[in-house]
Amino acid sequence: MSFQRTIQQTQTKFIRLSANRCKGCWKCIEACPKQVLGKIRKGPHRRVQIEISDNCTGCKKCVNVCKYDALEYLIIPKTKGDGRTFDVNADGTIMFRL
Ligand code: SF4
Ligand code: SF4
Repeated sequence: MSFQRTIQQTQTKFIRLSANRCKGCWKCIEACPKQVLGKIRKGPHRRVQIEISDNCTGCKKCVNVCKYDALEYLIIPKTKGDGRTFDVNADGTIMFRL
C-alpha cells in the first residue's frame, strides 16, 4: 500500500489555493482588496480558505505576498478574434495553443 500526501486545492477563476501548504501568516488576507480570503482556526492549526470566490479579480496581490507557494496564479485561456486560443502566462507573455 502506498501513502500519498493529498494537497487540498480550491480555486477562484484566477488563483488556486493549496491549503496544505498554508502557514496561516494572513499576509494574503491583508493584501486582498476584495475580501476573497478568510481565516480558519482549529486549535493550533491556522490556514486560509476561499470565502467569496466571485469577488476575485485576479490582481495577484495574494500570490505575490505568499512565501510558501500556497497560492498560484492560473493561466487563463483566451480567444482572439480570428478564433485562435491562447494562454496568458503569469508573467504577462502570450502563448498560442496549436
Ligand atoms: S500568504 Fe500564504 S501562507 Fe500566508 S496565509 Fe496566505 S496562503 Fe497561507
Ligand atoms: S487575486 Fe486579488 S482579488 Fe483575487 S484573491 Fe488574490 S488578492 Fe484577492
